[in-house]
Amino acid sequence: MIRFIDFKIIPLEKGDIEFISEITKELKRDKVDILDKHIPRNEEFIKMCSYCKSIKVDEKNWIGT
Ligand SMILES: [Zn+2]
Repeated sequence: MIRFIDFKIIPLEKGDIEFISEITKELKRDKVDILDKHIPRNEEFIKMCSYCKSIKVDEKNWIGT
């Protein structure tokens, strides 16, 4: 799912902060094969954007999934 979220950060008195998040829209997303738990894989880690599921391939480049 792709979720669109309104996120508000509100400063309060005494240094407190209020966080308010609300999902405003949800869309289905195509299956991302690299996240399929049934596909065999090694022990290496990858870096993946939690929002768009792009994968970091080197210091400057990300590829879409
Ligand atoms: Zn991203």
